[in-house]
Amino acid sequence: MRYRTNGRETERLAEQLRDLKVLCTSWQFTGIETITPVIPRSQPPPPRAGNEPVGSPQTSVPHESRHHALAELSRTIAGCRRCRLSEGRTHIVFGDGNAEAALVFVGEGPGSEEDIQGLPFVGQAGKLLTKMIHSLGYRREEVYICNVVKCRPPKNRTPFADEVALCSPFLFQQLEIIRPSVICTLGSCATETLLQRKSPMNQLRGRVFTWRGIPVVPTFHPAYLLRSPLEKKKAWEDLLVLSDLLEQGSAR
Ligand code: SF4
Repeated sequence: MRYRTNGRETERLAEQLRDLKVLCTSWQFTGIETITPVIPRSQPPPPRAGNEPVGSPQTSVPHESRHHALAELSRTIAGCRRCRLSEGRTHIVFGDGNAEAALVFVGEGPGSEEDIQGLPFVGQAGKLLTKMIHSLGYRREEVYICNVVKCRPPKNRTPFADEVALCSPFLFQQLEIIRPSVICTLGSCATETLLQRKSPMNQLRGRVFTWRGIPVVPTFHPAYLLRSPLEKKKAWEDLLVLSDLLEQGSAR
């Protein structure tokens, strides 16, 4: 069967296939440590103009207030005892990064290193996430990173439904303040929390959903990728989808 495509589309597909081949080869044989950015980004993501974040719907929070609003929300959460996760925590891990970010990553919850430092994704999984961010052509400080629950679940277990229900309003407020162009959910917990549906990750990844008008791209949690390196190929495909959405956003 022959497919009709125009020249530009063919060129773009060929470029993506080349990128995919290069990265898949690197991930499978030498690990993500060796990857250099393969999606060329000639310049950093453009700054947001006024109250209109690039490529995203209208925000309810003025441009200059986002940083302040996040700081205010962080102060609201300080000392939170709404759920049992408060009992074993060292620090609340609110989130970290650029309040003006075009891209927000949402994980599940803090691990032991995050609990000690009070910062998200600073352990081994965090190192892999940082490399994934670099492969998109971004620096870590240009994006925003947070979790569904802000306190470490004991022994890194998956947060219980009641804990998610009590803590996720804080996440929703963070996302409403930032109103990024794209949200990337890392793993089942974050994906199910935003999409309000339960399905295996293999059925959710590779597709684009929306949360309150913002595109959501689900992919595997970096901790899972460390345990299952062969899945990195699929994660890379998801990063290509993310990259495309970000490019579309910056072109608007
Ligand atoms: S996990 Fe969330 S709701 Fe539970 S105590 Fe921590 S900040 Fe509060």
